[in-house]
Amino acid sequence: MFVQGHEYTLMLNEAYEVLIKDNLRRDYDASIGPMNVQFGRNVSGYSSWKGPLRPQALFVDANACIGCRECVHHASNTFVMDEAHGCARVRVQYGDDDQKINVSVDSCPVNCIHWVDREELAVLEFLIQPQPKEGYGVFGGGWERPANVFVAAKAFNKQLKQQAEAQGRQRNGRVTVEEETPDQAEAKPTLP
Ligand code: SF4
Repeated sequence: MFVQGHEYTLMLNEAYEVLIKDNLRRDYDASIGPMNVQFGRNVSGYSSWKGPLRPQALFVDANACIGCRECVHHASNTFVMDEAHGCARVRVQYGDDDQKINVSVDSCPVNCIHWVDREELAVLEFLIQPQPKEGYGVFGGGWERPANVFVAAKAFNKQLKQQAEAQGRQRNGRVTVEEETPDQAEAKPTLP
């Protein structure tokens, strides 16, 4: 079951609220660092890194994964099965040598292992994690994710950028007022 409309917006807003706070945002930026992709209380990626950071990272689109285990078979230090949800995910970026990783990617029968920019990784890994779904009626409850995680990540990052710009404008406005000297204030024309 995928996240729909209102619920999906709520999920993004909650994640956004965490990210926009300066201290948590710093955590997020650090998430693109070497180990833990955690950038907030309820907002975290999953994989860690082995060795030096590289521009590209591996990401499994769990919506498309059919749980065949091929990737884990070929590169078990990189991929792991999420038994609870029946799909693979990346546990350690570059946990195996490049040859094994390439074989894994090529062996995926549904081509759901993607190379993504490192900067995109934490948001993608956060969004693809199933979120608990509130129950409605007899068949309610369960887990849900955005139907298209790449589109969702794009929207999420756009929202993040817009809000950061708005915050920046607000801050600049405050600085201008705060930095006004007494002479400047006095020189201002007074309204009748
Ligand atoms: Fe999923 Fe592809 Fe790995 Fe099979 S090879 S478990 S489909 S990611």
